[in-house]
Amino acid sequence: MVPSPILPAAPPGCGGRAHERQLPCPPRGSAEAVNCFDCAGLGQTAGAVAVCADCGAGVCPDHAQVTARWLTRTAVINRTVVVEPPARTIRCRLCQQARDAAG
Ligand SMILES: [Zn+2]
Ligand SMILES: [Zn+2]
Repeated sequence: MVPSPILPAAPPGCGGRAHERQLPCPPRGSAEAVNCFDCAGLGQTAGAVAVCADCGAGVCPDHAQVTARWLTRTAVINRTVVVEPPARTIRCRLCQQARDAAG
């Protein structure tokens, strides 16, 4: 087999595999690269599916704590009315425990 005469060199810091398929490098810090912060603390690696609303840590499905956040609107004569559906707040386990402890 005759090797291809010119192979474009991958830029430094890039794995180069994307270039074999003529794809651009994934950007640094892209969502694919985010791992669960709590799993990392346990010496494990799990892909993050969400970001803690309080501390910004990436969280995997096991560590994501989802709570409903009821929004309100002001109706006629300053009456506050709950609106549906409730919004969603995702926190890491630590931030949720801190919220619960604070009441
Ligand atoms: Zn995790
Ligand atoms: Zn957090």
